[in-house]
Amino acid sequence: MRDYKLVVLGAGGVGKSCLTVQFVQGVYLDTYDPTIEDSYRKTIEIDNKLFDLEILDTAGVAQFTAMRELYIKSGMGFLLVYSVTDKNSLNELLELREQVLKIKDSNKVPMVLVGNKADLKYDRVISVEDGIEVSSRWGRVPFYETSALLRSNVDEVFVDLVRQIIRDELEN
Ligand code: GDP
Ligand code: MG
Repeated sequence: MRDYKLVVLGAGGVGKSCLTVQFVQGVYLDTYDPTIEDSYRKTIEIDNKLFDLEILDTAGVAQFTAMRELYIKSGMGFLLVYSVTDKNSLNELLELREQVLKIKDSNKVPMVLVGNKADLKYDRVISVEDGIEVSSRWGRVPFYETSALLRSNVDEVFVDLVRQIIRDELEN
């Protein structure tokens, strides 16, 4: 069976690596080098079926690179991650989403909007409503707030993404 290729995108420091490692390995690693871009494999069960995932944890969204174009092309689903403590990180996603839609040449690409670091109550600068607003502007892209630290909603975002890919495959 072929792999489901997922790509984790977002500004530096929002928690892409923490979320990925928490999902794949079930641990919270707080020592991740922000420049490391790595891919991970995990097999998950959804509705009694097994799915092999290949997850690319990206780093560096500042410039549009040929590399980025390549992995967006081959990606089947995208986690667009911001941090609820970083206003700019949500703005950066607007641009990233445009890039994804342009490169995939489609306006229906499996995607999940993820507001991470939801545990940081006192540092929060982006409200749940702000996240919902962006998600509806994007045509009701599924939206979750997560905490990689507390492992809250971590499985949910990945499973939602895989379900979207499966659904699209059935329709086409
Ligand atoms: P990346 O650059 O997007 O890959 O970000 P990292 O995953 O390396 O996370 C950057 C830093 O944010 C980490 O060192 C953690 O200290 C912190 N962090 C990541 N996720 C969470 C979270 O859910 N809650 C809290 N409180 N901190 C987090
Ligand atoms: Mg990282």
